[in-house]
Amino acid sequence: MNIKDHIRSIPDFPKPGILFYDISTLLAHADAWQETVRQLSDAVRPHKPDLLVGIESRGFLVAAPLALSLGLGFVMIRKRGKLPGDIITHSYDLEYGTDTIEIQADAIKPGARVVVLDDLLATGGTMAAAISLLRRMGAEVAAAQFIIELGFLNGAAKLDVPAQALVTYE
Ligand code: AMP
Repeated sequence: MNIKDHIRSIPDFPKPGILFYDISTLLAHADAWQETVRQLSDAVRPHKPDLLVGIESRGFLVAAPLALSLGLGFVMIRKRGKLPGDIITHSYDLEYGTDTIEIQADAIKPGARVVVLDDLLATGGTMAAAISLLRRMGAEVAAAQFIIELGFLNGAAKLDVPAQALVTYE
């Protein structure tokens, strides 16, 4: 079972010049998705996390089944304005402008060991912001795990935790 065979690439989405890696076809294929979650479990288990964290929105699709598979809880990092109650906010720079992510203030206890999940590592900006936010809460970020890495963008260099992906595109 080759996971790459089930990932579709769509040119010029969401804007001209971007090759978008679409995991819809991977999610829709029961055996390929089960194999993906199995490989993610094998990659994440050695980090011995207390908790998994998923980044909205495709990171949720990765983190939720993995949390079940590893018998762990799962916490959401969301875009601005989506989470109720006390929240901690983190803004970070994009190529043009800024973006904001949030987490519930009581979601992670200081000292908790977490692994952060997203579907794809591109420039690393999103994951770097998530790691900063988690550290502000006192979390110990053990690793960042992805399904896909765009190796040519060198996003892993922006992350000061071990970063791993199941498949790489150069
Ligand atoms: P970055 O912050 O540049 O590492 O971008 C990562 C985030 O943007 C992830 O949440 C991805 O889902 C999304 N993303 C960036 N580039 C692509 C791409 N070429 N195909 C699919 N998703 C992408």
